[in-house]
Amino acid sequence: MKMKPIIGIRGARLRGRRDLCDIRIDKAGRIEKVGPRLRLPSGRSVLDAKGQIVLPSFIDPHLHLDLAYSLDLVKPNKSGTLIEAIGHWSAAKRKLTAANVRERAIRAIHAEVGFGTGHIRTHVDVATGAGLRLAEGVLAAREARAEIVDVQVAVFPQDGILRDPGAEDLMRRALSMGCDLVGGIAHNERTADDSKRHIDILFSLAEEFDVEIDCHIDETDDPDSRCTEYLAAKTIEHGWQGRVTASHVCALASYDNVHARKVIDLLNEARVHVVTNPGVNLHLQGRHDRYPKRRGLTRVCELLDAGVNVAAGQDCIRDPFYPFGTGQMLDVVHTLCHADHMTTPKRMGQALDTVAGNAAAAMRLQGYGVKAGCQADLVVLPACDEHEAIRTRPRPAWVLKKGRLVDLA
Ligand SMILES: [Zn+2]
Repeated sequence: MKMKPIIGIRGARLRGRRDLCDIRIDKAGRIEKVGPRLRLPSGRSVLDAKGQIVLPSFIDPHLHLDLAYSLDLVKPNKSGTLIEAIGHWSAAKRKLTAANVRERAIRAIHAEVGFGTGHIRTHVDVATGAGLRLAEGVLAAREARAEIVDVQVAVFPQDGILRDPGAEDLMRRALSMGCDLVGGIAHNERTADDSKRHIDILFSLAEEFDVEIDCHIDETDDPDSRCTEYLAAKTIEHGWQGRVTASHVCALASYDNVHARKVIDLLNEARVHVVTNPGVNLHLQGRHDRYPKRRGLTRVCELLDAGVNVAAGQDCIRDPFYPFGTGQMLDVVHTLCHADHMTTPKRMGQALDTVAGNAAAAMRLQGYGVKAGCQADLVVLPACDEHEAIRTRPRPAWVLKKGRLVDLA
């Protein structure tokens, strides 16, 4: 892949600044300086943004690269529920090869990077029906596209741990193969007690490998699904504060307000990151409601106002769980703004943060941003400000990875 080094960007519109700035990039692909009227040599290795907005590359903190573009390989999901999707995927994944997974994962990486994503956290199915083939495919895709995107891989026991004997061993083996962190699906066990044992196993694996946890949790409208509070309590007990992400947390929206407040305070105390997946939550949840139909997302604004770090992910691209998905993080932001009424300038900015700084914090990335010392992972968008970027969701003019121009052609 040819990637031309860029030494500067002229005339950049930056978030929170009125004047246009220039950005100087060093040979190591780091931002050296940001400010008005910097000395930049002329030539083709300097980009002229002409007042367009320049953002740090987007971050997708929740994706399933092994599932991407698998819709046509799986029986149709007629009920549109999570449970039916898991069942059909369970049958289909037995036939998938690592090569097939690699090819679809690369296609999804190209879609995401083309829209300006620089970092992805993917979950990879290591249920006994999947074995390690899906992990092999995703790790091969990561290696093949390491120049254009950084990928964290969470080992994901899609069919549960207690109800799928053998999954725990596969999680351990996938971590030894090069996967980065422990995934989970606490609500997908037979009983509430088993869900707790599931979470206990996640912590024992995290301690064994000294890694983070990112658990699918309470992805249901059931107000009695209470896994998140147990995850937060165990986070404190194990001293894993800041190292745990709770993905989805849909049931929080169905709790009564008093209990919801207690759980939100606990998440804050445990410094658990929350990842919402707006499109997928809108699509899969509320399926048993008549009217009014719940939206399915967690309480994003309430969590943010309480000080909890909330990020947002694409989750799925054209798979049995969700037939849409473009890999465009601005689409995720746009959907989030609608789903949780994030439509004032302040809320729109917060929504944009969910695929930027908040996602970087959830993934514990260092050197993220448009300031001196940060890695020059940048996206230049034909929009005059962040509101316009969210409203029109344009294709980027340029995408830079470590100071080099990404060319997917
Ligand atoms: Zn997911």
